[in-house]
Amino acid sequence: MSSVATAGIGSAGLIDRKNGTIIYASNLNMRDVNIAKKFEDELGIPFSLENDANAAAYGEYIKSGADCSSFIFITFGTGIGGGIVINGEIYRGFNGIGAEFGHTTLYRDGKECICGRKGCWEMYASATALIEQTKEAIEKHPDSAMKKIADEQGGVSGMTAFLAAKAGDKYGQEVVEQYVQYVSEGIINIINIFQPQKIVLGGGISNEGDYFLNPVKEYIRKYSQSSALPQSEIEIATLFNDAGIIGAALAAKHVKE
Ligand SMILES: [Zn+2]
Repeated sequence: MSSVATAGIGSAGLIDRKNGTIIYASNLNMRDVNIAKKFEDELGIPFSLENDANAAAYGEYIKSGADCSSFIFITFGTGIGGGIVINGEIYRGFNGIGAEFGHTTLYRDGKECICGRKGCWEMYASATALIEQTKEAIEKHPDSAMKKIADEQGGVSGMTAFLAAKAGDKYGQEVVEQYVQYVSEGIINIINIFQPQKIVLGGGISNEGDYFLNPVKEYIRKYSQSSALPQSEIEIATLFNDAGIIGAALAAKHVKE
């Protein structure tokens, strides 16, 4: 009802959007903090609160998917997060914690996940998982270029296997190939449920650009349900770290009217 501008906050954790409260955010060490009110009191303008993954998804949607009736953003970082935008609205599930793509099962009885289940997608396709897979490969093949790269860079990162693969290292290429399959299998699950018009991939891994995107697209194309129908477009995120900031601001404008 107000014509006053609303500012937005994107935060990790479990969010109560209506009240502007962070119910629980383990990474921020916050429990039951009415963050929106704190900002409002301090700055004198209304604030709305959004989950950071949803905020990032909304930012990417406005940037590169605003013409799409169904849009999905997936971010590959410490875990796997993301958001769903349908007909211009963030879809959160009835209780606000939907779109937890990372905790869908890739392998029954697979690796144990913090959520209590086993074989969750993020145990195989997050950046954390890629780092683990790279370390395992280095242990098995100490002569791999990955070892040299890791030594030079002061440790294994999500880039190590990609750098080695690009330099022609066979073991690096194996790690990347396997990782691409883990990523793609999860995306195919999402496509089979939503058939979204566009999927945008973000997180640190998206810095690899086409070297990562092209094999993912190729793998997914092989398992398309019907090649006679239009297929989901898959792109790399363009806003990177700004997605959450821009999305939180735009979503705020959208929420309170
Ligand atoms: Zn899980």
